[in-house]
Amino acid sequence: MAVDAKAKALRAKGERVIGFGIGEPDFDTPAHIKEAAKRALDGRIGFYTPVAGTMELREAAAAAFRADGVPAEAARVLISCGAKHALYNALMVLVDDADEVVIPAPFWVSYPAMVEAAGGVPVYVDTSADRFILTPEKLLGALTPRTKVVVLNSPGNPSGATHSREQFAALGEALAGHPGVTVLSDEIYQHLVYEGAAFISFAAACPALAARTVTVNGVSKSYAMTGWRIGYATGAKDVVDAMIRFQSHATSNPTAIAQAAALAALTGPRESVETMRATFDRRRRLMTSLLADIPGLALHRPDGAFYCFPDVRALLGPRTGRTALEFATQLLERERVACVPGEAFGGPGFLRLSYACGDADIEEGCARMKKYVG
Ligand code: PLP
Repeated sequence: MAVDAKAKALRAKGERVIGFGIGEPDFDTPAHIKEAAKRALDGRIGFYTPVAGTMELREAAAAAFRADGVPAEAARVLISCGAKHALYNALMVLVDDADEVVIPAPFWVSYPAMVEAAGGVPVYVDTSADRFILTPEKLLGALTPRTKVVVLNSPGNPSGATHSREQFAALGEALAGHPGVTVLSDEIYQHLVYEGAAFISFAAACPALAARTVTVNGVSKSYAMTGWRIGYATGAKDVVDAMIRFQSHATSNPTAIAQAAALAALTGPRESVETMRATFDRRRRLMTSLLADIPGLALHRPDGAFYCFPDVRALLGPRTGRTALEFATQLLERERVACVPGEAFGGPGFLRLSYACGDADIEEGCARMKKYVG
């Protein structure tokens, strides 16, 4: 967001800035979802809903979880103000002072802050040497008697790495001997997977651990609904009930009209999801092929989400910048290309480039990067 603010300030001065910084789809919310919200507006919508969300939306979210192989029924589903809020609720009820939470790095920026807000201690596991896949060995190396939660995020932000069923099953086996650990699985990029990769929910890959997994999902990324703020979670009844009580005192229900829109997203036609996915895939291929043409920049082709996370360590130096942060700052100042330095995600030496933008911007931005590196 800081990079985005700087890019916006440059744009306000009339500069043409290429924005690879942003973490949201550039598509508009599909028309049938907006229509459902308009229809809802003409009804009796301006009232509190139940704290955990309307029963229709909880049913729809439970059905979506079941379709992924996650055991869920409406009574164990909580609707929150975005996946972020669902994750926050989960960490606030699961984590007590000094409890440890394992976070594979690179990670989405909010996990450590949420863990710290709950009084917990983030424990990072570097996955950059394993193509950003958490291995059972690395996981076991991070577990201690104080470990309360392991956070998983597949497809992942910022790396795009997507764990296979076998990889998750191996993590499940590693956790079998640690019954006090809860898995918090953030599956917000579920519908954005490409090529040979397939999305698998952690609880579906590890049925024996489903009872101690909290699964989080939402409509923001898959349905181009970031501003509507609807996410949802399921897990063990006592955990979900605690999350509902916490949400009840913190925020009450998510906005009624957004819930009506999310219901249309989960129960309506799915063509727009596939159209957006196919467009992201095309842009992913374009960006990865252009980045491959930049000498010294190393990239694992991402198979999910909408980010490339190239390794620029071989390019760092006195003239390009000694850290990814300096590199990104100079790239913005000199070539007007905005991206997010890996430090923000616990991945120093890397850059996150979002391809949630038009083909022309991808071409122009990668050409400017190549010029800068040259
Ligand atoms: N989880 C991850 C990995 C994300 O990248 C994001 C948004 O960037 C979120 C959760 C938050 O999603 P929401 O907009 O539904 O709160």
